Amino acid sequence: MNYYRLIFFGAPGVGKGTQAKIISAKLHIPHISTGDILRSAISKKNELGIKAKVLMDKGELVPDDIMVELVKDVLEGNKSKEGFILDGFPRTLHQAKILQPIVEELFNEELTLITLHADNRVIIDRLAQRRMCNTCGNIVNLNFLPDSKKCPTCGSVNSFIKRKDDEVEVIKNRLEIFHKTTKPVLDFYEGKAVNHVIDATLSVEEITKEILKVLD
Ligand code: AMP
Repeated sequence: MNYYRLIFFGAPGVGKGTQAKIISAKLHIPHISTGDILRSAISKKNELGIKAKVLMDKGELVPDDIMVELVKDVLEGNKSKEGFILDGFPRTLHQAKILQPIVEELFNEELTLITLHADNRVIIDRLAQRRMCNTCGNIVNLNFLPDSKKCPTCGSVNSFIKRKDDEVEVIKNRLEIFHKTTKPVLDFYEGKAVNHVIDATLSVEEITKEILKVLD
Protein backbone atom coordinates (compact mmCIF):
# COMPACT_ATOMS: atom_id res chain seq x y z
CA MET A 1 0.00 0.00 0.00
CA ASN A 2 1.33 3.42 -0.97
CA TYR A 3 0.78 6.40 1.28
CA TYR A 4 0.88 9.80 -0.31
CA ARG A 5 1.64 12.90 1.76
CA LEU A 6 1.98 15.38 -1.05
CA ILE A 7 2.55 19.10 -1.23
CA PHE A 8 1.90 20.69 -4.61
CA PHE A 9 4.21 23.66 -4.75
CA GLY A 10 4.58 26.49 -7.25
CA ALA A 11 3.62 30.04 -8.17
CA PRO A 12 -0.01 31.11 -8.40
CA GLY A 13 -1.45 30.17 -11.77
CA VAL A 14 1.11 27.47 -12.50
CA GLY A 15 -1.54 24.72 -12.57
CA LYS A 16 -1.32 23.25 -9.05
CA GLY A 17 -5.07 23.18 -8.57
CA THR A 18 -5.77 21.51 -11.92
CA GLN A 19 -3.20 18.80 -11.32
CA ALA A 20 -4.14 18.35 -7.68
CA LYS A 21 -7.75 17.65 -8.69
CA ILE A 22 -6.70 15.08 -11.32
CA ILE A 23 -4.17 13.32 -9.09
CA SER A 24 -6.53 13.34 -6.12
CA ALA A 25 -9.15 11.50 -8.22
CA LYS A 26 -6.60 9.02 -9.62
CA LEU A 27 -5.02 8.17 -6.26
CA HIS A 28 -8.24 8.48 -4.23
CA ILE A 29 -6.75 10.92 -1.76
CA PRO A 30 -8.26 14.22 -0.64
CA HIS A 31 -7.26 17.47 -2.30
CA ILE A 32 -6.84 20.10 0.37
CA SER A 33 -6.73 23.51 -1.28
CA THR A 34 -6.43 26.35 1.21
CA GLY A 35 -7.48 28.81 -1.52
CA ASP A 36 -10.71 26.80 -2.11
CA ILE A 37 -11.41 26.60 1.64
CA LEU A 38 -11.03 30.38 1.91
CA ARG A 39 -13.18 31.03 -1.19
CA SER A 40 -15.88 28.79 0.26
CA ALA A 41 -15.73 30.78 3.53
CA ILE A 42 -16.08 33.99 1.49
CA SER A 43 -19.18 32.72 -0.29
CA LYS A 44 -20.68 31.72 3.08
CA LYS A 45 -19.81 35.21 4.38
CA ASN A 46 -18.64 33.73 7.69
CA GLU A 47 -16.08 35.36 10.00
CA LEU A 48 -13.11 33.72 8.26
CA GLY A 49 -14.47 34.69 4.84
CA ILE A 50 -14.99 38.33 5.76
CA LYS A 51 -11.43 38.58 7.12
CA ALA A 52 -9.88 36.69 4.19
CA LYS A 53 -11.67 38.53 1.38
CA VAL A 54 -10.02 41.91 1.97
CA LEU A 55 -6.56 40.31 1.86
CA MET A 56 -7.22 37.92 -1.02
CA ASP A 57 -8.65 40.65 -3.25
CA LYS A 58 -5.33 42.47 -2.92
CA GLY A 59 -3.28 39.31 -3.46
CA GLU A 60 -1.97 39.41 0.12
CA LEU A 61 -1.56 36.31 2.29
CA VAL A 62 -4.01 35.43 5.06
CA PRO A 63 -2.22 35.45 8.47
CA ASP A 64 -0.28 32.31 9.42
CA ASP A 65 -2.14 31.63 12.68
CA ILE A 66 -5.48 31.43 10.84
CA MET A 67 -4.07 29.21 8.09
CA VAL A 68 -2.27 26.83 10.45
CA GLU A 69 -5.40 26.21 12.56
CA LEU A 70 -7.44 25.64 9.44
CA VAL A 71 -5.05 23.09 7.92
CA LYS A 72 -4.49 21.36 11.26
CA ASP A 73 -8.24 20.76 11.59
CA VAL A 74 -8.49 19.36 8.06
CA LEU A 75 -5.46 17.07 8.48
CA GLU A 76 -6.68 15.76 11.83
CA GLY A 77 -9.91 14.80 10.10
CA ASN A 78 -7.91 12.88 7.48
CA LYS A 79 -5.41 10.98 9.58
CA SER A 80 -6.70 7.48 8.96
CA LYS A 81 -6.88 7.87 5.20
CA GLU A 82 -4.25 6.94 2.63
CA GLY A 83 -2.85 10.38 2.21
CA PHE A 84 -3.55 13.89 1.00
CA ILE A 85 -2.52 16.58 -1.41
CA LEU A 86 -1.89 19.98 0.08
CA ASP A 87 -2.35 22.69 -2.55
CA GLY A 88 -1.44 26.25 -1.58
CA PHE A 89 -0.03 25.33 1.84
CA PRO A 90 2.57 25.90 3.26
CA ARG A 91 3.09 29.32 1.73
CA THR A 92 5.45 30.78 4.33
CA LEU A 93 8.44 29.46 6.24
CA HIS A 94 6.43 29.74 9.45
CA GLN A 95 3.62 27.59 8.02
CA ALA A 96 6.16 24.96 6.89
CA LYS A 97 7.81 24.87 10.33
CA ILE A 98 4.46 24.41 12.09
CA LEU A 99 3.26 21.78 9.59
CA GLN A 100 6.33 19.55 10.06
CA PRO A 101 5.65 18.29 13.63
CA ILE A 102 1.91 17.99 12.89
CA VAL A 103 2.62 15.67 9.96
CA GLU A 104 5.19 13.70 11.97
CA GLU A 105 2.79 13.28 14.88
CA LEU A 106 -0.34 12.49 12.86
CA PHE A 107 1.14 10.43 10.05
CA ASN A 108 4.71 9.47 10.91
CA GLU A 109 5.50 9.79 7.22
CA GLU A 110 7.70 12.01 5.11
CA LEU A 111 6.22 14.62 2.85
CA THR A 112 6.83 14.61 -0.89
CA LEU A 113 6.92 17.87 -2.81
CA ILE A 114 5.76 18.21 -6.39
CA THR A 115 6.99 21.57 -7.64
CA LEU A 116 5.45 22.90 -10.84
CA HIS A 117 7.73 25.40 -12.50
CA ALA A 118 7.08 28.05 -15.18
CA ASP A 119 8.40 31.57 -15.78
CA ASN A 120 6.39 34.60 -14.69
CA ARG A 121 5.66 35.53 -18.33
CA VAL A 122 3.99 32.16 -19.02
CA ILE A 123 1.99 32.42 -15.81
CA ILE A 124 0.74 35.95 -16.52
CA ASP A 125 -0.30 34.93 -20.06
CA ARG A 126 -2.13 31.88 -18.71
CA LEU A 127 -3.92 33.80 -16.00
CA ALA A 128 -5.41 36.12 -18.60
CA GLN A 129 -7.44 33.06 -19.73
CA ARG A 130 -8.25 31.71 -16.28
CA ARG A 131 -11.87 31.87 -15.09
CA MET A 132 -13.91 30.55 -12.18
CA CYS A 133 -17.35 29.01 -12.53
CA ASN A 134 -19.65 31.18 -10.44
CA THR A 135 -21.97 28.20 -9.85
CA CYS A 136 -19.60 25.43 -8.67
CA GLY A 137 -16.28 27.23 -8.07
CA ASN A 138 -14.38 25.17 -10.64
CA ILE A 139 -11.28 26.90 -12.07
CA VAL A 140 -10.76 26.61 -15.84
CA ASN A 141 -8.59 27.97 -18.62
CA LEU A 142 -10.68 29.18 -21.56
CA ASN A 143 -8.00 28.06 -24.04
CA PHE A 144 -8.35 24.44 -22.96
CA LEU A 145 -12.14 24.08 -22.93
CA PRO A 146 -14.07 22.34 -25.73
CA ASP A 147 -16.84 24.93 -25.18
CA SER A 148 -15.60 28.22 -23.72
CA LYS A 149 -19.05 29.09 -22.34
CA LYS A 150 -19.92 25.84 -20.57
CA CYS A 151 -18.49 24.65 -17.25
CA PRO A 152 -17.19 21.09 -17.74
CA THR A 153 -17.84 20.27 -14.08
CA CYS A 154 -21.43 21.42 -13.44
CA GLY A 155 -22.65 22.21 -16.97
CA SER A 156 -23.59 25.83 -16.19
CA VAL A 157 -23.56 28.09 -19.22
CA ASN A 158 -22.17 31.64 -19.21
CA SER A 159 -21.26 31.45 -15.53
CA PHE A 160 -17.51 32.08 -15.82
CA ILE A 161 -16.14 35.06 -13.96
CA LYS A 162 -12.60 36.36 -13.53
CA ARG A 163 -11.34 36.04 -9.97
CA LYS A 164 -10.52 39.48 -8.55
CA ASP A 165 -7.09 38.19 -7.56
CA ASP A 166 -6.38 37.15 -11.17
CA GLU A 167 -6.42 40.79 -12.39
CA VAL A 168 -2.99 41.72 -13.76
CA GLU A 169 -2.01 44.16 -11.00
CA VAL A 170 -3.04 41.74 -8.25
CA ILE A 171 -1.31 38.81 -9.91
CA LYS A 172 1.93 40.80 -10.07
CA ASN A 173 1.68 41.29 -6.31
CA ARG A 174 0.94 37.57 -5.81
CA LEU A 175 3.96 36.59 -7.90
CA GLU A 176 6.18 38.97 -5.94
CA ILE A 177 4.96 37.49 -2.66
CA PHE A 178 5.57 34.01 -4.06
CA HIS A 179 9.19 34.77 -4.96
CA LYS A 180 9.92 36.64 -1.69
CA THR A 181 7.92 34.71 0.90
CA THR A 182 6.87 31.34 -0.45
CA LYS A 183 9.91 30.20 -2.43
CA PRO A 184 12.17 30.10 0.68
CA VAL A 185 9.92 27.27 1.90
CA LEU A 186 11.82 25.03 -0.55
CA ASP A 187 15.07 25.60 1.39
CA PHE A 188 13.32 24.44 4.54
CA TYR A 189 12.45 21.11 2.90
CA GLU A 190 15.96 20.41 1.73
CA GLY A 191 17.01 17.18 3.42
CA LYS A 192 13.52 16.76 4.93
CA ALA A 193 11.46 15.87 1.87
CA VAL A 194 11.99 14.77 -1.70
CA ASN A 195 11.18 17.52 -4.18
CA HIS A 196 10.24 16.58 -7.75
CA VAL A 197 10.41 19.58 -10.07
CA ILE A 198 8.12 19.37 -13.09
CA ASP A 199 7.95 21.58 -16.17
CA ALA A 200 4.58 23.35 -15.94
CA THR A 201 4.67 24.50 -19.56
CA LEU A 202 3.83 20.96 -20.72
CA SER A 203 0.21 20.06 -21.51
CA VAL A 204 -2.15 19.14 -18.66
CA GLU A 205 -2.02 15.46 -19.70
CA GLU A 206 1.79 15.43 -19.92
CA ILE A 207 2.17 17.03 -16.50
CA THR A 208 -0.19 14.46 -14.98
CA LYS A 209 1.89 11.68 -16.56
CA GLU A 210 5.11 13.18 -15.17
CA ILE A 211 3.64 13.45 -11.68
CA LEU A 212 2.40 9.86 -11.71
CA LYS A 213 5.79 8.70 -13.00
CA VAL A 214 7.74 10.33 -10.16
CA LEU A 215 5.27 9.02 -7.58
CA ASP A 216 5.50 5.48 -8.88
P1 AMP B 1 -4.85 30.05 -4.26
O1 AMP B 1 -6.21 29.65 -4.70
O2 AMP B 1 -4.04 28.94 -3.67
O3 AMP B 1 -4.10 30.81 -5.32
O4 AMP B 1 -5.06 31.09 -3.05
C1 AMP B 1 -5.78 32.30 -3.21
C2 AMP B 1 -5.47 33.26 -2.07
O5 AMP B 1 -5.85 32.66 -0.82
C3 AMP B 1 -4.01 33.63 -1.88
O6 AMP B 1 -3.58 34.66 -2.73
C4 AMP B 1 -4.00 34.06 -0.41
O7 AMP B 1 -4.59 35.33 -0.26
C5 AMP B 1 -4.97 33.05 0.22
N1 AMP B 1 -4.25 31.83 0.68
C6 AMP B 1 -4.37 30.57 0.21
N2 AMP B 1 -3.56 29.72 0.85
C7 AMP B 1 -2.87 30.47 1.76
C8 AMP B 1 -1.86 30.19 2.71
N3 AMP B 1 -1.36 28.94 2.87
N4 AMP B 1 -1.39 31.22 3.47
C9 AMP B 1 -1.86 32.45 3.34
N5 AMP B 1 -2.81 32.81 2.45
C10 AMP B 1 -3.32 31.83 1.66
